Amino acid sequence: MSDTPRMPARIRMGTIWLEGCSGCHMSFLDMDERLIDLADKIEIVFSPYVDAKAIPDNVDVFLVEGGIGSDHDMEVIREIRRKTRVLVAFGDCAVTANVPSMRNGLDVGAVLRYGYEETGQPIQPQIPTQGIPALLPQVLPVHEVVPVDVYMPGCPPSADLIHFVVGEVLEGRLPGRGVRARFG
Ligand code: SF4
Repeated sequence: MSDTPRMPARIRMGTIWLEGCSGCHMSFLDMDERLIDLADKIEIVFSPYVDAKAIPDNVDVFLVEGGIGSDHDMEVIREIRRKTRVLVAFGDCAVTANVPSMRNGLDVGAVLRYGYEETGQPIQPQIPTQGIPALLPQVLPVHEVVPVDVYMPGCPPSADLIHFVVGEVLEGRLPGRGVRARFG
């Protein structure tokens, strides 16, 4: 038997961007050298940062960037909710639908025609249909589809705010909720 002390289990974290611009994920990377400390405490199990293909079971914390704007987003966010203990609405698009919701007052068909036929590639203008998720009539904030545990506003949230929120969650505290999360 080895005398090497067992390392404490790391928190299993996922991140995803749905209908967002990836700016919140860029801000996460702006934590710079603080990421090195976090790497000892977090295992990234699903994220654009890693090459995971499927959302795993038993995720402790999921940072969700972006609003819910398509039937694919709807399916994914429900799967994330089923598999996640603490779901964080990560940035204003997740919290309020923000920028993507600018299309909410418009007809979806008109938006697609404008984007792909009227102002898209002039050679063969057409609306793609094969393998493309259908857009919802309106882009929704995450909490209108599934329960959210922590709201992290900002467009994007600053690296300092992300560091604070992730640090609190790692300590078992849910900022703004006054309750504790238990992992493991
Ligand atoms: S909140 Fe801002 S930075 Fe984040 S995905 Fe939306 S538009 Fe991009």
